[in-house]
Amino acid sequence: MAKKVINVTKPFLPPLDEFMPLLRDIWDSASLTNNGLYNQRFCKALEKVWGVEHVVTFSNGTQALLAALSCMNNSKKGEIITTAFTFIATTNSIVWAGHKPVFVDIEPNTLNIDVVEIEKAINEKTVAILAVHCYGNPCDVDELDALSKKYQIPIIYDAAHAFGVEHLNKSLMQFGDMSVVSFHATKVLNTFEGGAVACHSAITKKKLMNFSNFGFQNETTISSLGLNAKMSEFNAALGLLQLQYTDQIIKARTEIAATYHELLQSIDGLKIIKCSTGVKVNHAYFPIIIRNSSKCDRDSLYLYLREHGFMVRKYFYPLTCDFGIAEIEQNSITHNIDIAKEHAEQILCLPIYPSLSLSDVHDVARLIKEKLS
Ligand SMILES: *Cc1c(COP(=O)(O)O)cnc(C)c1O
Repeated sequence: MAKKVINVTKPFLPPLDEFMPLLRDIWDSASLTNNGLYNQRFCKALEKVWGVEHVVTFSNGTQALLAALSCMNNSKKGEIITTAFTFIATTNSIVWAGHKPVFVDIEPNTLNIDVVEIEKAINEKTVAILAVHCYGNPCDVDELDALSKKYQIPIIYDAAHAFGVEHLNKSLMQFGDMSVVSFHATKVLNTFEGGAVACHSAITKKKLMNFSNFGFQNETTISSLGLNAKMSEFNAALGLLQLQYTDQIIKARTEIAATYHELLQSIDGLKIIKCSTGVKVNHAYFPIIIRNSSKCDRDSLYLYLREHGFMVRKYFYPLTCDFGIAEIEQNSITHNIDIAKEHAEQILCLPIYPSLSLSDVHDVARLIKEKLS
């Protein structure tokens, strides 16, 4: 018998029967892309759910990040202060947009960028801050807001992990100048592939839309260097349908997270990354830290769980500044990032997705206990 394999995540899909009429509609209309009716409806729905003025959709989160970093008010190229404890797309998009990543350290409780370290790195070349709501845990949005105002520097959030998260009853997408979401298959809400930018100004919205459509302002005018990064009607229709399942998805994830929490909370050398209070979380990931003081190191535990069919992942190792990509290495500044380095060696993300059974959760916890106690 083939060995059972449990991946770190598994995409949620609504019943196919519910998608078929939408597909039929797209076939009948033969309107497939270029901001069609489904895209317009999906954008409107996201604006309502997030309580933001404007949403522009994209073919994926990486293009959405690139668009956001290319459509800021100030078109000057310069330094963008960011974190290396993230998925590679965060850093890639800074370099593709023609800016220089400046890596500063994270803070150990949330593993999000440290606001104090950002302030130390600000200088006249700084054009933006690109912060990541890592694992969907909110950055210190109020402190970042104050910093952004004090220095007149825009703040862009990589909110790829943060769909459905609220801070003091407000969607995280309401914070910062722009927030970028990913609807990749592995994310909390997926449209197969997809992404979006939430913003608060009509001018920025226009710029983002032009950027995603070759730079076209109208039939004969190109306003700026653009790309083709539009979301298709297929993806938008699926997104609309998926929105009806958000509560169900997050509820299932919450139950799994609570079970892990209960089973793992008192193990020596193991730390669970938790959210600050006042946050409605989405449990996009279940990250744990295997401290140096524990009975076994992260890599041994990683291998042990994988041998037993649990495909845990080292999100985020290596740091994005350590992949050996020449364009990043030669074009970035790295400040002291000791906390990020330490946690990249100790982090492990456990399987979590709506259809994961609680008995699998118990098995993972049992294997971890076997190794660590
Ligand atoms: C997934 C992800 C992205 C990229 O999104 P795609 O839709 O896969 O292009 C960007 N940043 C972070 C932090 C991510 O996890």
